[in-house]
Amino acid sequence: MKRTFYSELVSTSLDGELISDACCEKILSSPEIELLPLLDSAYQIRKTYFQNTVQLHILNNAQNGNCPEDCHYCVQAKTATTDIDSYPLKPQSEVLAEAERAYQSGAYRYCIVMSGRGPSPKRVTQLADLIQAVKTKYPIEVCLSVGLIDEPAARTLKEAGLDRLNHNLNTSESHYPKICTTHTYQDRMDTLHAAQSAGLACCSGVIVGMGEENRDLIRVAKELRKLEVASIPVNFFLPIDGTQLEDTSSLTPDYCLRVLCLFRFINPSAEIRVAAGREHHLRGMEVMSLYPANSMFLEGYLNATGKESSRTLQMITDAGFVIETNGDISEHLQQTQIGQEGVLLKELEVLRPRMGSKT
Ligand code: SF4
Repeated sequence: MKRTFYSELVSTSLDGELISDACCEKILSSPEIELLPLLDSAYQIRKTYFQNTVQLHILNNAQNGNCPEDCHYCVQAKTATTDIDSYPLKPQSEVLAEAERAYQSGAYRYCIVMSGRGPSPKRVTQLADLIQAVKTKYPIEVCLSVGLIDEPAARTLKEAGLDRLNHNLNTSESHYPKICTTHTYQDRMDTLHAAQSAGLACCSGVIVGMGEENRDLIRVAKELRKLEVASIPVNFFLPIDGTQLEDTSSLTPDYCLRVLCLFRFINPSAEIRVAAGREHHLRGMEVMSLYPANSMFLEGYLNATGKESSRTLQMITDAGFVIETNGDISEHLQQTQIGQEGVLLKELEVLRPRMGSKT
């Protein structure tokens, strides 16, 4: 009986059909559905599209803090009292130097992340100049996370050479007012549609554990499927002192893994990334996340330490997965894996996406 449930999940997903909401609920919370066969089923789908490869990503913030929005989960929100390092947009020379380091390290994609509601027309022009400068100097993909944008802005950025826009949906439409009041879910959808109309690939994901119900996660997973996003970061919420959601935390490793499986069954060919919170919430079961997911942030995200990066790389290879790199970076990764603690991989956004994956 259970075997039928698991094999039907695999065939439904691989046949391109949508899994029912009742089935999704079972995946997330039925004690009859065991974790190991569920992970095995998700892995069969992941293997079809990505074999046993793992893509690694590292974020670089070009602007941090002082945001006028009130996203309840974010330390950069105007309502947060967390002590953080705030700085305005880095000068072009600094961003170019980072892009050069990324390129010389063999990175496939350089990702520029900025705090704020969204860029002014003047800031869009500055960013377009910046992107054009990076693209002119280095044959590297550029991804930008910049808040809300409209179609003209998206076109300007696309014409400047931008390859991909990151803009997370974060949660379902009905739960959205509980995590932010200064912009809406529809604002976020509009940004994704604007980016797609301008020809930009989209990366959009979720934050799990912000007081939502199973049905919210199911809805957003299905919304991302409709949007056909290339890449889905799945973050596990870390309650941080000073944010409005500082007391929210109810995740278990078992539940986090079930969420990753759910996203794989619903979005079989998308790059699914285990993002923030994996170390804290998955704990000793962290490596199991690679059975449904094919992509990972190195820990720290903005301030990765060499020791932790080495641990992550070791974990991936110990489990028999292959880190997807371009040639230049493999030696660096090898050196890191053999114990060079203190190696900082911050400049690497990594890596050549799999053939057939959307970028
Ligand atoms: S818009 Fe971005 S930077 Fe600003 S509070 Fe929300 S998540 Fe944080």
